[in-house]
Amino acid sequence: MYPLSPAVAEPAVTPVMDDAISHLASLTAQRDREVLDVNLAQGVLDLLAASSVAVYRLIGREDEARRWLCCGLARKGQITVSDPPWVDLHTLPAELDHPLRVRALHTRMPELGGPQEGLSAHAIVLPLPVEVGLPGVLEVRSCEPLSTGALRTIQTLLKVFGNFQNLLESSQRDALTALLNRQTFDSTFLKASMPLADAPSETGDGERRSTPTSGYWLGIVDIDHFKRVNDGFGHLIGDEVLVLVARIMRQTFRHYDRLYRFGGEEFVILLRGGTEQDALGAFERFRRNVEGYPFPQVEHLTVSVGFTEVQHQDTPNVAFARADQAVYRAKHQGRNQVLSHESLVRQGVAEHADNHAGDVELF
Ligand code: GH3
Ligand code: MG
Ligand code: MG
Repeated sequence: MYPLSPAVAEPAVTPVMDDAISHLASLTAQRDREVLDVNLAQGVLDLLAASSVAVYRLIGREDEARRWLCCGLARKGQITVSDPPWVDLHTLPAELDHPLRVRALHTRMPELGGPQEGLSAHAIVLPLPVEVGLPGVLEVRSCEPLSTGALRTIQTLLKVFGNFQNLLESSQRDALTALLNRQTFDSTFLKASMPLADAPSETGDGERRSTPTSGYWLGIVDIDHFKRVNDGFGHLIGDEVLVLVARIMRQTFRHYDRLYRFGGEEFVILLRGGTEQDALGAFERFRRNVEGYPFPQVEHLTVSVGFTEVQHQDTPNVAFARADQAVYRAKHQGRNQVLSHESLVRQGVAEHADNHAGDVELF
């Protein structure tokens, strides 16, 4: 170990650097992608003389106009908030309503705005340096323009944030389709199996159900006769089909539905909200979209879907087993169809199962 020469001055660690480092430490301890943006907004606000800091992400399907979702808004002296993830897309501002944000995403550089552009405060918009996941920006508003030192601090923080988010996203996504992977399913599922405070009651008269449900539906998609695709056209074409099915999923479901590839040709969807009819409608739309899609070489392809309502205190395995029973039945009834476990119970071909794996009746 070298003794420090008294002639060498220690590098000055300013309070701002110290704060920035502790914010980085808490940011990179986070594994929940949805909380990451809130922490970023709060962290930058704590560091700077800004009046508000927000993270906005662009959401929307490929075939519709994209919109800005506020994923974290921190204001001096106020609680940090964000838009609920299940917000109706049409109530959000359109991409082009915020030209400064659009410009920052396009130029990949910080963009300045201010009172001269009709804004009530000075604004600086920086693109989030993320390669995987939704594109987004950090928007900082302040009464006075930010100093160059402050800007440098934000840029450093954003670089670390970007690196961390890219790592987190790639560890949680399937490499072939970029859908969420099986490992991330359990933690999201446990959040989904909590009862929703605003879940509608069955009777509509304000009374709560005796068994609270979660408001989520779990669907399993299995491609029909996928082995024939591999055998007839080769694994490369098989892989391309998987990528295309994932794309159809992204185009069919809403931005807040969670889409997974569980490996092989099996996909899982955690659908939020609505009645059994609504869920059936969404899964049917997906089934039809696949049936009508002109897959290269393979041309025609179909899927079988089984789904079930996630019950309060369900474990992932138990809910999965119920949806799987419905897939099994759909395969046996001729494939290319959607069935709910609840409909099997009504028909008397499956038993209502409590939240215990042992109670699930298998065929
Ligand atoms: P069914 O309608 O009954 O579901 O018939 P199937 O042929 O789809 O049934 P099965 O589940 O037995 O076959 C799935 C096939 O998926 C087997 C395997 O060759 C193929 N497969 C699994 N993972 C991958 C992958 O990552 N890429 C490719 N190309 N094929 C895969
Ligand atoms: Mg299968
Ligand atoms: Mg299959």
